[in-house]
Amino acid sequence: MADHDVDLFVIGAGSGGVRAARVAASHGARVMAAEEYRVGGTCVIRGCVPKKLLVYASRFSHEFEDAAGYGWTVPDPTFHWSALIANKDREIARLEAAYTATLERYNVALVKARAVLENANTVRLATGASVGAKTILISTGAWPYMGPSIPGLEHAISSNEAFHLPELPRRIVVQGGGYIAVEFACIFAGLGSEVTLVYRGENILRGFDDDVREHLRSEMQSRGITVTCGHTVTEIQKTGEEFVTRLSDKSIVKSDKVMFAIGRHPNVSGFGLERLGIKISRHGGVEVDEFSRTSVSNIYAVGDVTNRVNLTPVAIREGHAFADTVFGGKPTPVDHTNVPTAVFSEPEIGVIGLTEAQARERLAKLDVYKTTFRPMKATLSGRNTRTFMKLLVDGMTDRVVGCHIVGPDAGELIQLVGIAMKMGATKADFDATMAVHPTAAEELVTMREKAISYGQRAAE
Ligand SMILES: Cc1cc2nc3c(=O)[nH]c(=O)nc-3n(C[C@H](O)[C@H](O)[C@H](O)COP(=O)(O)OP(=O)(O)OC[C@H]3O[C@@H](n4cnc5c(N)ncnc54)[C@H](O)[C@@H]3O)c2cc1C
Repeated sequence: MADHDVDLFVIGAGSGGVRAARVAASHGARVMAAEEYRVGGTCVIRGCVPKKLLVYASRFSHEFEDAAGYGWTVPDPTFHWSALIANKDREIARLEAAYTATLERYNVALVKARAVLENANTVRLATGASVGAKTILISTGAWPYMGPSIPGLEHAISSNEAFHLPELPRRIVVQGGGYIAVEFACIFAGLGSEVTLVYRGENILRGFDDDVREHLRSEMQSRGITVTCGHTVTEIQKTGEEFVTRLSDKSIVKSDKVMFAIGRHPNVSGFGLERLGIKISRHGGVEVDEFSRTSVSNIYAVGDVTNRVNLTPVAIREGHAFADTVFGGKPTPVDHTNVPTAVFSEPEIGVIGLTEAQARERLAKLDVYKTTFRPMKATLSGRNTRTFMKLLVDGMTDRVVGCHIVGPDAGELIQLVGIAMKMGATKADFDATMAVHPTAAEELVTMREKAISYGQRAAE
């Protein structure tokens, strides 16, 4: 070990890198980490955290409207984008300092510079220094993909810039149908912008359960968002302060901002992976085994750069498992199945497990339970919204294999359903659980009527 300057060099101090560095150091490793931008990475600086703060901000408009039905008279509320952004930036700076302090507390040497791989045991820093490392962890994350070149592409912003706009756009075009596009469409709409969402596929949220996709789309539309599927942006023209966006059907949309959220690409190039011959998977990320080891035996990769399941808790778990495996003497693979996840749209989505289409493909027998209902709060407020819930049950084993929720607090609900599913809960377990009344969640344990049954039940 003494042959190297450090036991572990971590490239990228985001969710995965910070956790790996801290845990490896706690196992006694000498650790150095390089970060070229800000400590905390995408999640803290320009992802989950600032986004959720904007989501909270955007939901007040509904609260003010809904209050009237409950007897409140709220004077015309006014919103100040600059105040929101300044407060958000203060919170992000606080978190960045907290992450930095954690690394310092664990004696991780932090270098604020870009790092590139010189060879399998040497990292070169933008400061000019070279550092010898026994093990290297690549945790460089991902970056917004802006699509093929089209005229005027330079006018489009990504989610990175959306967090720092000088003012709230009165009208915005958002291209994309994934969770980031959908969330920003809802954020801007909630804050009062006129939003047009443009997506090339036939419906938003590809990969999610079809009922969820349909339900959210209609909820978004009923909140005034124009959802245009089956088209792409082909040109953006700037005329004065206005943007004229041309779509593939030749129609045009005028707006004050155009945002693209059409996917993210793993950060795999420009820092020496090619030179070392590190294999890239067919999904475009660094190829790794179940212990996050790359094709070069002392180099590992975790998080979005591996393009497995691109979520913060997954990157953190992979980073932790890597450190336990390599420095804690405890080989720990990461289980990427049944990862609960949320979309912070309006209303929110929480999902875990198989979609109905996947379950139909994989299971001999499938029972589908679903319900839509008006959330209680919407009765007095008069808001036109419905909650949707669906349970997918393996008809052979009675195990719950999928849960899909669209409605208030769906993200909070799905975390707990996740525990039950991880424990292998059956529909009978759900049924045996006493309801909490009056809640929306009680529907999860009171769905008795099958909406659909696929396949024959063998044991009956
Ligand atoms: C708008 C948005 C919203 C999101 N919302 C959610 C959410 O609600 N829930 C959720 O779970 N996930 C969410 N995500 C995804 C989540 O942010 C990522 O999955 C997570 O941050 C991945 O962590 P990571 O460690 O792999 O990479 P990152 O956190 O991206 O960290 C990588 C770091 O490496 C640095 N870096 C890159 N190359 C180098 C180099 N050569 N030298 C030095 N430093 C380098 C980068 O500057 C960066 O700080 C969101 C993402 C976005 C963009």
